[in-house]
Amino acid sequence: MGDLLAIENLKTYFDTEEGTVKAVDGVSLRVKQGQTVCIVGESGCGKSITAMSVMGLVEGPAGKVVGGRIEFDGQDLLPLSRHELRTIRGNDIAMIFQEPMSSLNPVLTIGEQMTEPLIEHLKMSRKAARARAIELIGQVGISRAEQIADSYPHELSGGMLQRIMIAIAISCGPKLLIADEPTTALDVTIQAQILDLLRQFKAESNMSILLITHDLGVVAEMADYVIVMYAGKVVEEGEVVELFANPKHPYTQGLLKSKPVINQRQNELYSIPGQVPNPLELTESCYFHDRCAHCMDICRTREPRLKNVTDESKVACWLYEEAVVHG
Ligand code: SF4
Ligand code: MG
Repeated sequence: MGDLLAIENLKTYFDTEEGTVKAVDGVSLRVKQGQTVCIVGESGCGKSITAMSVMGLVEGPAGKVVGGRIEFDGQDLLPLSRHELRTIRGNDIAMIFQEPMSSLNPVLTIGEQMTEPLIEHLKMSRKAARARAIELIGQVGISRAEQIADSYPHELSGGMLQRIMIAIAISCGPKLLIADEPTTALDVTIQAQILDLLRQFKAESNMSILLITHDLGVVAEMADYVIVMYAGKVVEEGEVVELFANPKHPYTQGLLKSKPVINQRQNELYSIPGQVPNPLELTESCYFHDRCAHCMDICRTREPRLKNVTDESKVACWLYEEAVVHG
């Protein structure tokens, strides 16, 4: 299986009045055809900015991709113009977000918004696009599709809107779906239905999914491969089974411990002590050192590199460096 998406050493920085925030700092990842890769981490770790960089959505004077390479389906995305990216977006790469409302136009009907990409990207006639939109609404499990097509976004529930967003996302047959916290705003039952829907479309079309979430439950259900990010960097990655069975980085171990377990009382939930470091005050070190129970001297002054520790996993932690452990 070839790589559909290959990100190499991506750096996306933001200039602020207080200094440069390295939101994404040297991230590499690959998504193979038909694979679901999850990026997991706490809010502010750079996982959404990574996805937005792929979509060419980091723009404006403050934030930009300052280094690295993003290759999609053999094509280098970074040199492309806005117009060229727009063609790829919504066509070969689709995206869904946490808040469907923010992606929908409140003054257009659902049907109008669904037909637009079909007309633009697939060159369908208005009539054919309308028929296809209604068919898609049915496919995402919404009844009374005609009536829904004539509704405005505010008339639908959050769960229904997210189904509509999925319908729009898959309407042009994307090779890659990027989903950024697609179920975070939804209640648990609806969340499970939305994840089912994504799995179903993936199975039917062999599309790849890059799923961004802070929720390890979602990761466990969806991922083939997991990337754990912390403070703009990848600290661990691996096949999902390996990562859950044998987490190596102390941060990943903490995330797994903090995952709510059924039957565990709320006040027994573990949470990782301390806070994510201030992105403006980072110095050469392991960025997790303030929160790590295993912190050694070297962790405060030198950055551990991401390295293979098994065939299926990589970790960036001095605990796994031979010289430190044994020497
Ligand atoms: Fe902890 Fe050191 Fe590993 Fe960082 S490098 S996670 S501080 S042991
Ligand atoms: Mg986010």
